[in-house]
Amino acid sequence: MPVVDTLDIDALRADTPGCAHRVHLNNAGAALMPEPVLKACRDHLTQEATHGGYEAAAEAKTALEDTYDAVAALLQCHRDEVALMENATRAWDMAFYSLSFDEGDRILTSEASYASNYLAFLQQRRRTGVEIVTIPRDDHGQIDLDALEAAIDDRTALIALTHVPTNNGLVNPAAEVGRLARAAGVPFLLDACQSAGQRPLDVDAIGCDMLSATSRKYLRGPRGMGFLYVRRALIETMEPPIIDLHAATWTGPDSYTLRADARRFETWEKNYAAQLGLRAAVRYALDLGLDAIQEAVQARAARLRGLLGDVPAVTVQDTGAVQSGIVTFTVDGQPAAEVQQALRAQHINVSVSPPSSTLLDATRRSLPPLVRASVHYYNTTDELDVLQQALLSLTT
Ligand SMILES: *Cc1c(COP(=O)(O)O)cnc(C)c1O
Repeated sequence: MPVVDTLDIDALRADTPGCAHRVHLNNAGAALMPEPVLKACRDHLTQEATHGGYEAAAEAKTALEDTYDAVAALLQCHRDEVALMENATRAWDMAFYSLSFDEGDRILTSEASYASNYLAFLQQRRRTGVEIVTIPRDDHGQIDLDALEAAIDDRTALIALTHVPTNNGLVNPAAEVGRLARAAGVPFLLDACQSAGQRPLDVDAIGCDMLSATSRKYLRGPRGMGFLYVRRALIETMEPPIIDLHAATWTGPDSYTLRADARRFETWEKNYAAQLGLRAAVRYALDLGLDAIQEAVQARAARLRGLLGDVPAVTVQDTGAVQSGIVTFTVDGQPAAEVQQALRAQHINVSVSPPSSTLLDATRRSLPPLVRASVHYYNTTDELDVLQQALLSLTT
């Protein structure tokens, strides 16, 4: 299948300094930042160094506030429903640990759950006796919707789904899960860490009540930033597990009031240079259009799966009826870490997905550590050929 682009890939590569040095296929780890993101971060750091940190923040107030508008535009939500955090994990945690569970309540989730999320379920089970119900996968490897529907009952307190798993090319049917959650009146928490910046996300169309994502992956923002969406009707029912003087006001010696908006999940201190980088990254993605981005990413991933299929010693391990930019594979007789090292020596960046990142799925599929080559729209077909050739010469 030829790759036909509506995006001007040459211009986008010229805007991405890292493209000159590497074949970067680790976009699910951290994508390469484009020039406007770098500039936003650098400029603010310079302002902090020359004007003072508090003074620089005051001068950048409008731009800093616009980060909330940018994220709201990305998710099709209201700016009051957005909290900015240091990463996706803490964003997800603040939502999850703000919900209250009683013994016998049930959390429904999928086999492809991200490790950090499942660890939180296990901790909550230890603390409260909540039940974790793992919905099996269907023939495509995605969450089985019939099984999910059948599992929902009046003890179901939460549905938590990983949209695009970290270790697999599949995209879970988030909107179908959202419909079931809504019909049952059960809160739905979506881990959109790998889908933000890669696919259009509309929280109403998806029907999720909470969503977490990160800056550095497909959004191409800086590291150390993430964000949380919480539906307005839920915010005031959620008591954050940790609060500070930004999340709450100390109204008297024995009293406090929480903020009414999603910033009750934030802390006061923030990395403002990174926040401005996230703002630039979100605006960049919105300007290109998430539909065009999704199309470009999917076309490259499909092409790469085809190329890898032609390498005799390589087995593509992706499942899914709908697939993402994440391409995972194994190489006969060669551990993933060795493949990664050999490729890095040739300036090809890929990562390794260990079974522990998605233990249930890896156990079910008896997976060893996988090589993960995650493409972005700025990867060229030549770069995909370079990976194929490198793997051919590694294995023959
Ligand atoms: C990377 C990842 C996370 C964690 O994101 P951080 O920003 O590193 O906290 C969560 N879920 C999925 C599916 C991921 O791939």
